[in-house]
Amino acid sequence: MKQVARQARGEGRIVGLVPTMGALHEGHMSLVRAALGECSPVVVSIFVNPTQFGPHEDFQKYPRALEQDRKRLEEAGVNYLFAPEAAEMYPPGFRTWVNVEGLADRLEGRSRPGHFRGVTTVVLKLLEIVQPQKAYFGRKDAQQARLIRQMARDLDLDSEIVVRPIVREADGLAMSSRNAYLSVDERRAATALYRALDQTRRAIERGERDAQRLVRAMREVFSAEPLAQLDYAEVVDAATLESLIRVRGTCLALVAARIGSTHLIDNLFIEARDGSVQTEL
Ligand code: AMP
Repeated sequence: MKQVARQARGEGRIVGLVPTMGALHEGHMSLVRAALGECSPVVVSIFVNPTQFGPHEDFQKYPRALEQDRKRLEEAGVNYLFAPEAAEMYPPGFRTWVNVEGLADRLEGRSRPGHFRGVTTVVLKLLEIVQPQKAYFGRKDAQQARLIRQMARDLDLDSEIVVRPIVREADGLAMSSRNAYLSVDERRAATALYRALDQTRRAIERGERDAQRLVRAMREVFSAEPLAQLDYAEVVDAATLESLIRVRGTCLALVAARIGSTHLIDNLFIEARDGSVQTEL
């Protein structure tokens, strides 16, 4: 992979990388299409990264569909699929980790200790192997995107980090490989994440700026949904990820919940300036 990417860069081409864990859906494919529009060659990596899963999480049962994914990427016109083995990425004696301090231990990091250490470490490794001019990520994982941008800045990486919008199902549920775990009833309950954020969006557009009131209303959506167990609902500053008292500047409303035993996340982007507000769900 290093050799192929090095040669492409040597030929003056723009190398794009889309890191994924596979079981590809339209969310992933939107990143792939964005990369294909701006880069050639495009490399898609598929690696279910063991180090970002906690000991009691779903690493073993995480959906794997390599053959199907390969076909889908080939049809889309992707040039290279990079699907390393865990033993190649983490050979015996592996000891170096990347930790983005402060940002990695809140929200998703609090629910999943060590998760972001695994994420930033594997993403740095992928960026080092491919050394793409551009690397593509989804805002679906907003905290992850924030950490990766910080890592790229702090470690002087040459890759531009591109963050793309969330792709949703018709009823609003953010696409995720984990949605495949949901039973019919759970699938219905899973829209609670979108409903909570959509309600927040409408309240903000009506002029609501009290973050605590917004959070309380989000919690009520989950209280009314017996199959959903809220993990967190917060309104935070998009740069620091710290909780806000009032909605102001660039913010995120984030929710995480367990639907049955499936952990799902979603978020709403908010840009509130004097007298004007823009939201993106
Ligand atoms: P994953 O395979 O879940 O690790 O995701 C790989 C990349 O796809 C990450 O950058 C995700 O943020 C992005 N992604 C996953 N789901 C979506 C979605 N519904 N919309 C946009 N991007 C997504």
